[in-house]
Amino acid sequence: MSMSWTIAVDGKACLGSGMCAGARPDVFALDGAHARVLADPVEPDEGLLDVADSCPAAAIVVTGADGTELAPRD
Ligand code: SF4
Repeated sequence: MSMSWTIAVDGKACLGSGMCAGARPDVFALDGAHARVLADPVEPDEGLLDVADSCPAAAIVVTGADGTELAPRD
């Protein structure tokens, strides 16, 4: 069973700040006004939880292998 995480960006919520792509260009790219995900699924990576927490729109959702929402964290 894969332990990979799933990364999703809500394009409607995304403000296009580009913060995620700046922090992790291996996983996110700014595509016009919205970010898109380049790498999904990904190996578990604590740094991606920090990026999701830092998104000003809370538009990045990280889901664990068991379906648990890992980030954004409250
Ligand atoms: S950090 Fe959030 S609001 Fe900014 S580009 Fe990425 S997904 Fe969009």
